Amino acid sequence: MPAENYKILKNNINEAALRSGRNPDSITLIAVTKTVTVEEVRRAVNLGITDFGENRVQEAKPKLKQMPELRWHFIGHLQSNKVKDVLPHYILIHSLDRLSLAKELQRCAEKFERSAEVLVQVNTSGEASKFGLEPEKLPGFLEQVSGYNRIRIKGLMTMAPFVDDPEETRPCFSMLRRLREENIRAGFALPELSMGMTNDYQVAIEEGATMVRIGSAIFGQIKQ
Ligand SMILES: *Cc1c(COP(=O)(O)O)cnc(C)c1O
Repeated sequence: MPAENYKILKNNINEAALRSGRNPDSITLIAVTKTVTVEEVRRAVNLGITDFGENRVQEAKPKLKQMPELRWHFIGHLQSNKVKDVLPHYILIHSLDRLSLAKELQRCAEKFERSAEVLVQVNTSGEASKFGLEPEKLPGFLEQVSGYNRIRIKGLMTMAPFVDDPEETRPCFSMLRRLREENIRAGFALPELSMGMTNDYQVAIEEGATMVRIGSAIFGQIKQ
């Protein structure tokens, strides 16, 4: 029952924010709608949710087409040949992780005469299965992408490993926060930290998340 799920979730987000001395309003809840129906998305809108996340270009298309007015975030791995389908329809791409993708984003943004708002995805867990830039490559990458005038880097994104005890994810999130601080000192503006999912959002908020991406806790168990 989404309404009850949402109430519990909001309450948990508020408490985690207060524990870390932050205003709960500074945290954006992104409802991850992969595999949920248009009707369920509409119900979520009625609850007051404004931001939505999808991770697969093709599967998201019908939803975006029916509800283009919503704030859609692209949170999945992005192939360069799909950039043209993503850029016009999403307000933020959370998964910039390589220079070849930056080049394609710049090219398409020029073509569409717009900017590309992105987060840089960092692999903070070192797992080979996870996408994302290696942390030590981040400063050089930010420097290179700053040469692309159509790309606006808004912050960083990471995914922690799925573990039973969410406390084990804390090092990933604190690493992302530290990387942001180091690179802000180097002169980059990185306001957003997109981190935390159903299993670990409270820890992520305690470590400074400004955006949490949550599916199962809102819509019930979601198939990957
Ligand atoms: C599916 C997904 C989420 C949400 O996962 P839940 O565990 O259902 O909250 C968040 N981020 C990304 C990148 C995802 O693919």
